[in-house]
Amino acid sequence: MRNFSQTARVVVKIGTHCLSAGATVDSGYIRAISRQVAAVLEKHHVLIVSSGAIGMGAGELGITERVTSITMRQACAAMGQPLLMQEYRQAFAERGVKVAQVLLTSDVLANRRSYLNLRNSVETLLGLGVVPIFNENDSISTNEIGSAFGDNDTLSAYVASKIDADLLIILSDIDALYDADPRRNPDAKPYRTVTEITPQIERTAGAAGSAFAVGGMETKIRAVKIARRAGCAVVIASGREERVIERILEGEELGTLFPAEPRMSARERWILNSRPSGRIVIDKGALKAIRAKKSLLPSGVLSVEGVFDHGDVILANDTVKLVTSFNNVELENILGRHSSEIAGILGSGKRDVIARPEDMVFLDR
Ligand code: GLU
Repeated sequence: MRNFSQTARVVVKIGTHCLSAGATVDSGYIRAISRQVAAVLEKHHVLIVSSGAIGMGAGELGITERVTSITMRQACAAMGQPLLMQEYRQAFAERGVKVAQVLLTSDVLANRRSYLNLRNSVETLLGLGVVPIFNENDSISTNEIGSAFGDNDTLSAYVASKIDADLLIILSDIDALYDADPRRNPDAKPYRTVTEITPQIERTAGAAGSAFAVGGMETKIRAVKIARRAGCAVVIASGREERVIERILEGEELGTLFPAEPRMSARERWILNSRPSGRIVIDKGALKAIRAKKSLLPSGVLSVEGVFDHGDVILANDTVKLVTSFNNVELENILGRHSSEIAGILGSGKRDVIARPEDMVFLDR
């Protein structure tokens, strides 16, 4: 038996597979979701991340195949999003619950000011007993301008992480994580609890998709990693299971549970969530040393890219984010050199390491 009785905040992610009935949205399904969410609101704050905008917009236009062109996806999302919200509003109104729409792009979360604005408005909504319903702002965010989450699994994990949720429930047509692809292997067995994302799990999490959905098991595993690292547990379960939200919160062993990792310190989370101002490449020895909780020294640096100041977050080998003690010009002057030479090159009063263990966060932790 699982225990979610102390769970204050729950993010429920609802995938396109669950929501669609042919080319339109399944109103009955949205009513079932609203009934379940309304039933748990007394004990938990619930936030919903809902897909389905692009699919609904496509349905309006009579398109039945997957929409791939960016401009068409944007147009479909702009048409479908209000239709989707209309369904939610109506369904929740039958339960006396009010809803709100929050549309996000990834730069909103990367910018500290807009992120704090978002937090404040979400806190206010939750305080008012309103259920916020999130989606990506697909009509303006595209990969091309670097502002897209790309899929709602990832979006839901960031939402859960940023608003300090305790539990993220990912509902889709996949009822659990399996040890092999269940569509091809009838002997595949579901995992009930996964405490570590091993390379084996990453390998078996193959891609899946329908005409409109973006995510598969791979994006779900990525979401699991983001959420768990922020101290949020994740349950992946079938959205079509009877009373699934209520039963999960009551502790029933549905789907796969990924327990939370210990919450990171505020500083670690700040490092992790900061957009790097520059990049460096370090050699294998240095990478091994910092993985073993040693400081990063200039002798292990091979190259420096970008313009950054000391105190900025930079990225090393696309693997570790760190707060650097040197700006890019200083770092270029001391790369490959021994720490004892730093004072001779840059003058006295400088630190003798680029970053200490507490200044670094591994992305693949
Ligand atoms: N944001 C997209 C939509 O509402 C869905 C993305 C996804 O399915 O992951 O249509």
